[in-house]
Amino acid sequence: MSKFISKRFDTLEAYVPGEQPQDMQYVKLNTNESPFPPAPAVLEAVNAAEINHLNLYPDPEGKVLRETLAKHYGVKLENVFLANGSDELLNFFFMTFCDEEKPVAFPAVSYGFYPVYANLYRLPYDAIPLREDFRLEPEDYCGIGKNVVIANPNAPTGRIISVDEIEKIVKSNPNHVVMIDEAYIDFGGESCLPLVEKYENLLVCQTFSKFRSLAGGRLGFAIGSPALIEDLDKIKYSTNSYNINRLTMAAAVATIENDEYYVNNSRIIQANRAYTVEELGKLGFETLPSKANFIFTRCKTVDGGTIYRELKAKGVLVRHWDKPEIADWCRVTIGSREQMDVLLEKVREILKEVG
Ligand code: PMP
Repeated sequence: MSKFISKRFDTLEAYVPGEQPQDMQYVKLNTNESPFPPAPAVLEAVNAAEINHLNLYPDPEGKVLRETLAKHYGVKLENVFLANGSDELLNFFFMTFCDEEKPVAFPAVSYGFYPVYANLYRLPYDAIPLREDFRLEPEDYCGIGKNVVIANPNAPTGRIISVDEIEKIVKSNPNHVVMIDEAYIDFGGESCLPLVEKYENLLVCQTFSKFRSLAGGRLGFAIGSPALIEDLDKIKYSTNSYNINRLTMAAAVATIENDEYYVNNSRIIQANRAYTVEELGKLGFETLPSKANFIFTRCKTVDGGTIYRELKAKGVLVRHWDKPEIADWCRVTIGSREQMDVLLEKVREILKEVG
């Protein structure tokens, strides 16, 4: 740290992203990307149409993409906001709606970026403990009188709450914004998007990074009432008006137009998820019920840190956190069947060696 950093940030703990090794090829099951490449039409859209126009700024309103998303989800253009990954969307959410008088609540075991943003903006926040087996109790958020952020399905647990339960939370906090982070909704979960019409305080956040095979393109979007979108726009235009680049916008439009390809990939991932859970079960692993493209699992005989390190030494990357309440567990992205078979083979070896 230099002597020049603002006092506001000298104790800030930054978010630590999952490992993105550039040196060696791993079976990469650590950051919940899709194992499938973008649809062929996406590659064509990026090559032909847009590279030649990179000398020009992109449309700051992202109108074509927003219209495409609005049509796909049955909402209006004014309901859609674009961001450079849903991480940027979260940043805008915390910056726009939260302050000393409007603190924020989120689950204590959830996406690690929530407390980082809360600390960045020096917000008072409640990290609400999950219940037994990492279950999120909706009642804990009803009438809480704070802004709320909930990842649904939750990360890293993979557990989901129902649309009815979300509605109760939204309805009981009419003077606060409830943001439902649906980064992993397209792997068998039910989206709460239909509630947006009914509740002006609901913001639903999604990403192109998982189901839509576009993590490297960095695109997230929010759907909410026009007034909320207007507020987000105000902050966006006060930080970076051109937050989505041309190539990503072209890729994203072609992605939405080829939805069937992604729906089919999701079916494969859901089948691979069931297969992996079953096979790990035979090896003595306990896995939480997951509606995401990852599972949260623990071995009854070997601790999570050892599993993570041994797998890494054998060329398979999964995610592990040293936090005491989840130190036994590893989060494993569901990839292709071949990737899952390598994982299982390496787990069998580890159990023989150290189990
Ligand atoms: N929300 C959750 C719950 C996540 O797990 C992630 C991915 N790490 C994100 C948001 C951010 O995803 P992205 O910025 O790639 O859209």
